[in-house]
Amino acid sequence: RTQEQGSYKYQFYSYSMNSQASVQLRLEALLHHALERDEFILYYQPQINVNSGNIQGVEALLRWQHPELGLVSPASFIKLAEQTGLIIPIGEWVLKTACTQNKVWQSSGIPPLRVSVNLSALQFQQPNLPGTVAKILHETDLEPNLLELEIAAVTLMQNIEYSQQILQQLNTLGVHISIDDFASGFSSLEHLKKFPFHTLKIDQSFVHDLKNDPKDLAIISALVSLGRGFNLRVVAEGVETQQQIDLLRSLECEQMQGFWFSRPLAAEDASKWLPID
Ligand code: C2E
Ligand code: MG
Ligand code: MG
Ligand code: MG
Repeated sequence: RTQEQGSYKYQFYSYSMNSQASVQLRLEALLHHALERDEFILYYQPQINVNSGNIQGVEALLRWQHPELGLVSPASFIKLAEQTGLIIPIGEWVLKTACTQNKVWQSSGIPPLRVSVNLSALQFQQPNLPGTVAKILHETDLEPNLLELEIAAVTLMQNIEYSQQILQQLNTLGVHISIDDFASGFSSLEHLKKFPFHTLKIDQSFVHDLKNDPKDLAIISALVSLGRGFNLRVVAEGVETQQQIDLLRSLECEQMQGFWFSRPLAAEDASKWLPID
């Protein structure tokens, strides 16, 4: 009887809603259980200084490994996780897992390596975020300056005063702060000087279009000197070709991240390109 009701319900939903909505509903139901079922995994992608060849840091990128759906990319579920509030516990898991992994790497004797963790808008809007970060640093015993938090430029610009306050508190903890997807959608420059950043990440849309076009080159060049003027580490994202590397180098952008160097990899595989003895 229950089974019948179940299939009736299923029919009701599938006939009365468009398929997009029912896919979203199914995804939401699955996402609710993903944490307890241990279905999340972090991948890591290196940030390279092309002049020295050294790895400057690694960015932690979330994946959802579902038995039926396969490996789901954040583009398909981060928005849903935000809408449902699930991003808060998921985000804590990400922070904790990335810090734990970096502690493992540090204990294995590699030179100090910074791990970057992405924060979503909703996470950033939690006034207790600095407390959560402090708690996780304490629990994992990771040196604060080996953690970097990546916050998208658009998120920071939503409420300048609030952003300033939270960033100050995070800065006091000793963690690094990175402004992600910089210059996408014309990030406003006037507020930049109010924020305690360490890193500026040039949005990959600028890198993708980078050919020998004088206008593309002018944009990157301006972003690099802006970063330099603020004494920031400047990282170009989404580097896929040797031509892009050459052009970026000619513009004195020396830190890069992208498929050309490595795709994001599971920790065991990422360990292979870390200088572990
Ligand atoms: P993002 O922080 O800007 O991350 C960079 C994205 O570019 C990643 O996609 C990465 O895999 C991809 N990428 C790296 N190199 C290349 C390249 O050479 N070419 C191309 N085409 N793409 C490249 P991914 O992992 O799918 O993540 C997408 C976005 O999802 C991230 O953008 C970030 O905003 C968000 N995200 C990822 N992990 C987390 C997380 O743990 N928490 C939150 N809140 N958001 C996350
Ligand atoms: Mg990022
Ligand atoms: Mg980015
Ligand atoms: Mg992005």
